[in-house]
Amino acid sequence: MRITAAVAREKERPFSVEELELEGPRAGEVLVRVVATGMCHTDLICRDQWYPVPLPCVLGHEGAGVVEEVGEGVTKVEPGDRVVLTFASCGKCATCLRGKPSYCLNFFALNFGGARLDGSSPISADGASVHGHFFGQSSFATHALATERNVVKVPGDAPLEILGPLGCGVQTGAGAVLNTLHPEAGSSIVVFGTGAVGLSAIMAARIAGCTTIVGVDVRPGRLELARELGATHALNGAETDAVKAVKEITGGGADFSLETTAVPAVLRQAIDALGPLGTCGVIGAARLGTEAAFDMNDVLVPGKTIRGIVEGDSVPDVFIPRLVKLHAQGRFPLDRLVRFYDLGDINEAARDAEEGGAVKPVLRVGRG
Ligand SMILES: [Zn+2]
Ligand SMILES: [Zn+2]
Repeated sequence: MRITAAVAREKERPFSVEELELEGPRAGEVLVRVVATGMCHTDLICRDQWYPVPLPCVLGHEGAGVVEEVGEGVTKVEPGDRVVLTFASCGKCATCLRGKPSYCLNFFALNFGGARLDGSSPISADGASVHGHFFGQSSFATHALATERNVVKVPGDAPLEILGPLGCGVQTGAGAVLNTLHPEAGSSIVVFGTGAVGLSAIMAARIAGCTTIVGVDVRPGRLELARELGATHALNGAETDAVKAVKEITGGGADFSLETTAVPAVLRQAIDALGPLGTCGVIGAARLGTEAAFDMNDVLVPGKTIRGIVEGDSVPDVFIPRLVKLHAQGRFPLDRLVRFYDLGDINEAARDAEEGGAVKPVLRVGRG
């Protein structure tokens, strides 16, 4: 079928919006008419080749839409179902079988390989293959071909226009708190970086009952939003010694910290700001090969933990519907993060994301 999609053709160059051809669903695949799709930091670092996704490629991995057609053997959804698309996982490896699909042994190939595991891509332009299947979806497009494993059914009245980001950025931040760190009510957390991921973590920390929630950023507008969404304290890292301030606020260091910026010096701060037995969650995706330093004795003596967290340790079929309910109850106001763009304005959305003008750009593609 003919689709319109945004293609990343060259490293660090703007997306080009083109008419392409998309195959129908094979066995186990699900064709989704995209209603809206979020833009995540990972889309931009793949366009810029921090991660070696083969180009040209249709990126986009926070799609939400309506099922149009299912391939042979698909029983989870049927045409007409409303779905959020999330990361791909194989379902067969040891970590998938242990219920941790975001650490799937095939994660890189399935999500960043630009093709199905057999090497084929469902997308082409005038007969020439274009890489697709990015995060099992390639949703910067009017239609996306997903798989049964990475479509999550949501209620018929769910607001699809804003739900796409639950599939990656939002579950990454919220899940790090609710699935991984499990802060006790009354505990303290400091979140470095208040973009979409960090703000999702702050909203989740409020739900979990943290009574000290510190947001750290260098953009005053973001700090204001962090306060509105649940931060009890907001620190401008450009003006304040954040580690010293966190130790003062918490009386010795935070119980939990999250590093969402992928800046090595900020990871150091996130570790330094912890108190005894504190845990630092590492979430920010850095350029491959990036190294960071920390004081070994400052980890050893206070018994600190440093833990990498992918996709918020989410089991999407369980966790995304929970976030949809929390949003419906007004306890997880993710709509506050969203700014809408048309698919044709994708380069403006990317620029606003990079320059901080938009927390979470969402591209409107079709009718809800
Ligand atoms: Zn797996
Ligand atoms: Zn993402």
